[in-house]
Amino acid sequence: MENTKVKKSEDEWKKILTSEEYKVLRKKGTEPPFYGKYVHQTAEGTYVCAGCGNLLFSSEAKFDSGSGWPSFSAAVTSDAVVLKPDNSLFMKRTEVICAQCGGHLGHVFDDGPPSTGRRYCMNSVSLRFVEKK
Ligand code: FE
Repeated sequence: MENTKVKKSEDEWKKILTSEEYKVLRKKGTEPPFYGKYVHQTAEGTYVCAGCGNLLFSSEAKFDSGSGWPSFSAAVTSDAVVLKPDNSLFMKRTEVICAQCGGHLGHVFDDGPPSTGRRYCMNSVSLRFVEKK
């Protein structure tokens, strides 16, 4: 991720992230469905990147997709995330990464609700919820 603003070595990331966060954010892992702590989170607030704190999603865009992963119809701003083609695992998917640190967040699909038609399918461990006060 050459064009991202937060740059750290693998060792530095290992120091600041839990091993679960590291596996997903830095190694493009996926947490199991219905496992993450934000799947059923409905409180009002915002979701920031667990790696660097970049503001990514608002609870207003969160919806229950039934997929087992926290799902959003849109990012807070179009430049909060970067979309990349991902043809791994014999699938054509679009990877979503944090625009600030290059961390892997999840994938985006075109079967979301009517307003945008998008479903940002995120890993809870890539996110940190900040409750609205
Ligand atoms: Fe980030």
